[in-house]
Amino acid sequence: MSLHGDYDSQNIFAKIIRGEAPCYKVYEDDDVLAFLDVFPQSFGHTLVIPKRAAARNLLEVDADSLTKVITVVQMLTKVLVAELQPAGVQVAQFNGAPAGQTVFHLHMHIVPRFEGEALAVHAGGKAEPEALAALQARIVARLAA
Ligand code: AMP
Repeated sequence: MSLHGDYDSQNIFAKIIRGEAPCYKVYEDDDVLAFLDVFPQSFGHTLVIPKRAAARNLLEVDADSLTKVITVVQMLTKVLVAELQPAGVQVAQFNGAPAGQTVFHLHMHIVPRFEGEALAVHAGGKAEPEALAALQARIVARLAA
């Protein structure tokens, strides 16, 4: 499955939206869900997805859902910067396997970048559950502050 094809309602992010798979949720509203990447490329790597759009990528998503997603991306990027104090932040989105997409439900990556730290391999090593839970708690607390 790549740039063109049918939306698979059994993809892992669709299961997370339906509550059939777990996630380290940091933000949710009626339209958008954000959670920690469990194979983080950096400390604080967060994913933001539309809940209502059955869109595999940027080409398929409706403008309203996309607007809601990018608005949350900006809000959470500010929260992550305030909490984690990175030296930079990457915001990325991939379309099709040759472009690096591995999960075919539209998502945006927020990847904090720290001075002198290289990115981990994309969708590489799994983070420790305790570390993810502690980070989740920090971000949720900062959001509520
Ligand atoms: P992409 O390669 O752009 O499709 O990004 C998919 C991202 O989802 C990768 O960075 C993976 O590490 C991440 N990922 C895969 N499964 C899960 C999961 N169950 N929970 C959180 N993140 C996941």
